[in-house]
Amino acid sequence: MIVYFIGTGGSEGIPVHLCNCRSCNEARKFGFAQRRPSTLAIIGNKGEVVLIDVGTDIREFLNTPIDAIFLTHWHHDHIYGLYKLRWIARETELYAPRGHADALILQDPKNLKPNIIRAGDKIKINGLKITAVKLNHQVETLGYIIEENGKNVAVLYDTKGLPRETEIILEKLSPLRLAIVDATYPPGFNDPYHNNVDEAGEMGIKYAERVVLSHISHKNLPFLELVNYVRRKWDDRVLVAYDGMVFYV
Ligand SMILES: [Zn+2]
Ligand SMILES: [Zn+2]
Ligand SMILES: [Zn+2]
Repeated sequence: MIVYFIGTGGSEGIPVHLCNCRSCNEARKFGFAQRRPSTLAIIGNKGEVVLIDVGTDIREFLNTPIDAIFLTHWHHDHIYGLYKLRWIARETELYAPRGHADALILQDPKNLKPNIIRAGDKIKINGLKITAVKLNHQVETLGYIIEENGKNVAVLYDTKGLPRETEIILEKLSPLRLAIVDATYPPGFNDPYHNNVDEAGEMGIKYAERVVLSHISHKNLPFLELVNYVRRKWDDRVLVAYDGMVFYV
């Protein structure tokens, strides 16, 4: 499978309007340091296309039928693109947890077909097996483990650490090929709902051969500093996501 990182930012995206912090100023100099809110596409070996979160309008990145859309949770930075995408000219399944569901999307989904799911549910999309797992966040939030031909990829955001029941599932599958982990905040920063970079890298390498840090806020280190920090600490096992990144599993 291929993992296509369409959006790798936190809720505000980078640069933030009128913000003069170092991350936002750097992103005005280097286009690769700009970040849209979280949006991932998984493309399976048989051509399956699955979206995980739609934090941005995807039309210029993915102009293809979508087999299913999975939401991690209903915070605006993970659903914003749905307001546009619900007009899609083809019925499309949407899987999401119940917690804080958006009334407009549920009551007037247009061509989206909402299904409420919970941790432990498994959904098969042709050759992709997708399992929902529980995460630790402000509202009910699901991570996803995507399996194809015995290779596993975990999407673990938004979260602060992991519930024990999710750790047990990941321990059994370890080593996963890839873990994509919430790294919203800079090293040393403590937040009740999101990891910092150290927590994210350590969480990922426990379970996966490679780790990609994503959901990165402008409060984090600027892109170039973050890449240096991560490389010094974990060499090439941990990578910093960027919008447009493609990872071959
Ligand atoms: Zn978020
Ligand atoms: Zn900023
Ligand atoms: Zn959130």
